[in-house]
Amino acid sequence: MKQALTQIGVFILVIIILFGVAILNSNAIAEKDKKMWNNGTCLACENGHYELVNISKGRGVNLNSYFYQCDNCKAIIELHNAK
Ligand SMILES: [Zn+2]
Repeated sequence: MKQALTQIGVFILVIIILFGVAILNSNAIAEKDKKMWNNGTCLACENGHYELVNISKGRGVNLNSYFYQCDNCKAIIELHNAK
């Protein structure tokens, strides 16, 4: 009985760690997206503005890719959140 309780404890701990990693990972993606997006101003030419050109569906919300293209220099960025 004691061993079973220990196994349940370990199982719960593993679940908590997995959730923690998933949250940290999605925060990292959001932070990277924010830098790439640069408030909608192109990072390459610092003059153009990004326009949505394509969406690629992934498995799960955070795995979708949103492709934005600069209307000035045509540079393309990939974000994981819609703007
Ligand atoms: Zn540009």
